[in-house]
Amino acid sequence: MFANLPTWTDERIELLKTHFQAGLSCRQIAVDIGVSRNAVIGKLSRLGLTRGRTISAESRAKKPAKERGTARSVPRLQYQLLKALYEDPLSLDGPVVSERRCSLFELSKERCRWPISTPGAEDFCFCGNLPLDGQPYCLGHTRLAYRPSARPRAARV
Ligand SMILES: [Zn+2]
Repeated sequence: MFANLPTWTDERIELLKTHFQAGLSCRQIAVDIGVSRNAVIGKLSRLGLTRGRTISAESRAKKPAKERGTARSVPRLQYQLLKALYEDPLSLDGPVVSERRCSLFELSKERCRWPISTPGAEDFCFCGNLPLDGQPYCLGHTRLAYRPSARPRAARV
Protein backbone atom coordinates (compact mmCIF):
# COMPACT_ATOMS: atom_id res chain seq x y z
CA MET A 1 0.00 0.00 0.00
CA PHE A 2 3.04 2.30 0.24
CA ALA A 3 4.04 1.62 -3.33
CA ASN A 4 2.53 4.82 -4.67
CA LEU A 5 3.88 7.05 -1.94
CA PRO A 6 6.89 9.19 -2.80
CA THR A 7 10.03 8.15 -0.95
CA TRP A 8 10.45 11.58 0.54
CA THR A 9 7.41 12.76 2.38
CA ASP A 10 7.64 16.00 4.35
CA GLU A 11 7.73 13.96 7.51
CA ARG A 12 10.67 11.88 6.32
CA ILE A 13 12.57 14.94 5.19
CA GLU A 14 12.10 16.46 8.66
CA LEU A 15 13.34 13.22 10.22
CA LEU A 16 16.26 13.19 7.83
CA LYS A 17 17.28 16.72 8.80
CA THR A 18 16.87 16.04 12.51
CA HIS A 19 18.87 12.83 12.40
CA PHE A 20 21.52 14.43 10.24
CA GLN A 21 21.91 17.31 12.68
CA ALA A 22 22.04 14.81 15.54
CA GLY A 23 25.07 13.27 13.86
CA LEU A 24 23.62 9.94 12.84
CA SER A 25 25.34 8.09 10.02
CA CYS A 26 23.60 7.73 6.65
CA ARG A 27 23.01 4.06 7.38
CA GLN A 28 21.45 4.78 10.79
CA ILE A 29 19.21 7.43 9.25
CA ALA A 30 18.19 5.06 6.47
CA VAL A 31 17.23 2.30 8.91
CA ASP A 32 15.29 4.68 11.09
CA ILE A 33 13.34 6.33 8.27
CA GLY A 34 12.89 3.10 6.37
CA VAL A 35 14.54 4.02 3.10
CA SER A 36 17.71 2.85 1.42
CA ARG A 37 21.08 4.29 2.42
CA ASN A 38 21.55 5.51 -1.15
CA ALA A 39 18.26 7.37 -0.91
CA VAL A 40 19.50 9.11 2.23
CA ILE A 41 22.81 10.05 0.65
CA GLY A 42 21.10 11.31 -2.50
CA LYS A 43 18.57 13.33 -0.56
CA LEU A 44 21.21 14.83 1.72
CA SER A 45 23.24 16.00 -1.23
CA ARG A 46 20.15 17.42 -2.94
CA LEU A 47 19.35 19.31 0.27
CA GLY A 48 22.94 20.57 0.36
CA LEU A 49 23.53 18.82 3.68
CA THR A 50 27.02 17.40 3.78
CA ARG A 51 29.34 16.41 6.55
CA GLY A 52 32.83 16.61 5.16
CA ARG A 53 34.34 14.62 7.98
CA THR A 54 31.88 11.75 7.96
CA ILE A 55 31.75 11.44 4.21
CA SER A 56 35.51 11.43 3.80
CA ALA A 57 35.82 8.95 6.65
CA GLU A 58 33.33 6.68 4.94
CA SER A 59 34.94 6.87 1.55
CA ARG A 60 38.36 6.31 3.07
CA ALA A 61 37.14 3.17 4.78
CA LYS A 62 35.73 1.96 1.50
CA LYS A 63 38.63 2.88 -0.74
CA PRO A 64 41.91 2.74 1.14
CA ALA A 65 43.85 3.34 -2.07
CA LYS A 66 41.97 6.51 -2.88
CA GLU A 67 44.60 8.97 -1.72
CA ARG A 68 47.40 7.11 -3.38
CA GLY A 69 45.36 7.03 -6.57
CA THR A 70 44.89 10.79 -6.49
CA ALA A 71 48.57 11.40 -5.96
CA ARG A 72 49.42 9.14 -8.87
CA SER A 73 47.09 10.84 -11.30
CA VAL A 74 49.00 14.12 -11.40
CA PRO A 75 52.38 12.80 -12.57
CA ARG A 76 50.50 10.54 -14.94
CA LEU A 77 48.80 13.53 -16.53
CA GLN A 78 52.15 15.23 -16.84
CA TYR A 79 53.62 12.11 -18.36
CA GLN A 80 50.86 11.90 -20.95
CA LEU A 81 51.29 15.56 -21.75
CA LEU A 82 55.03 15.26 -22.27
CA LYS A 83 54.57 12.08 -24.25
CA ALA A 84 52.09 13.82 -26.55
CA LEU A 85 54.43 16.76 -26.94
CA TYR A 86 57.47 14.73 -27.86
CA GLU A 87 55.63 12.34 -30.11
CA ASP A 88 54.22 15.07 -32.29
CA PRO A 89 56.84 15.53 -35.01
CA LEU A 90 55.22 18.73 -36.31
CA SER A 91 55.96 20.58 -33.13
CA LEU A 92 59.50 19.32 -32.61
CA ASP A 93 61.18 22.28 -34.20
CA GLY A 94 60.56 25.59 -35.80
CA PRO A 95 58.55 28.58 -34.66
CA VAL A 96 55.01 28.19 -33.39
CA VAL A 97 52.48 29.53 -35.87
CA SER A 98 49.88 31.64 -34.12
CA GLU A 99 47.00 32.08 -36.48
CA ARG A 100 44.46 33.44 -34.03
CA ARG A 101 46.45 36.16 -32.29
CA CYS A 102 44.37 38.06 -29.78
CA SER A 103 44.58 40.86 -27.24
CA LEU A 104 44.56 40.50 -23.48
CA PHE A 105 40.83 41.21 -23.45
CA GLU A 106 40.11 38.45 -25.94
CA LEU A 107 41.91 35.79 -23.92
CA SER A 108 39.74 32.90 -22.81
CA LYS A 109 40.00 29.25 -21.90
CA GLU A 110 40.01 28.49 -25.62
CA ARG A 111 42.96 30.77 -26.31
CA CYS A 112 46.65 30.10 -25.80
CA ARG A 113 47.98 32.87 -23.55
CA TRP A 114 51.57 32.80 -24.70
CA PRO A 115 52.67 36.42 -25.16
CA ILE A 116 53.90 37.41 -28.61
CA SER A 117 56.50 40.20 -28.75
CA THR A 118 57.17 42.43 -25.76
CA PRO A 119 54.55 43.43 -23.22
CA GLY A 120 53.78 47.12 -23.69
CA ALA A 121 54.82 47.10 -27.34
CA GLU A 122 52.28 48.35 -29.86
CA ASP A 123 51.92 44.95 -31.53
CA PHE A 124 51.77 43.07 -28.25
CA CYS A 125 49.28 40.23 -28.33
CA PHE A 126 48.79 36.63 -27.30
CA CYS A 127 49.12 33.47 -29.37
CA GLY A 128 45.40 32.63 -29.28
CA ASN A 129 45.76 29.09 -30.64
CA LEU A 130 43.60 26.34 -29.19
CA PRO A 131 45.32 25.27 -25.96
CA LEU A 132 46.01 21.70 -24.89
CA ASP A 133 43.54 20.18 -22.48
CA GLY A 134 44.01 21.72 -19.06
CA GLN A 135 46.97 23.80 -20.19
CA PRO A 136 47.20 27.55 -20.62
CA TYR A 137 49.18 27.19 -23.86
CA CYS A 138 48.80 25.55 -27.25
CA LEU A 139 50.86 22.50 -28.14
CA GLY A 140 53.81 24.45 -29.52
CA HIS A 141 53.96 26.89 -26.64
CA THR A 142 53.52 24.19 -24.03
CA ARG A 143 56.55 22.57 -25.62
CA LEU A 144 58.45 25.83 -25.33
CA ALA A 145 57.39 26.16 -21.70
CA TYR A 146 58.63 22.66 -20.93
CA ARG A 147 61.76 22.80 -23.08
CA PRO A 148 64.70 22.08 -20.76
CA SER A 149 67.02 24.52 -22.54
CA ALA A 150 64.55 27.34 -21.93
CA ARG A 151 64.97 26.97 -18.20
CA PRO A 152 67.74 28.50 -16.15
CA ARG A 153 70.43 25.94 -15.49
CA ALA A 154 70.35 26.62 -11.79
CA ALA A 155 66.80 25.27 -11.66
CA ARG A 156 67.87 21.92 -13.02
CA VAL A 157 69.22 19.84 -10.20
ZN1 LIG B 1 50.39 29.27 -28.41
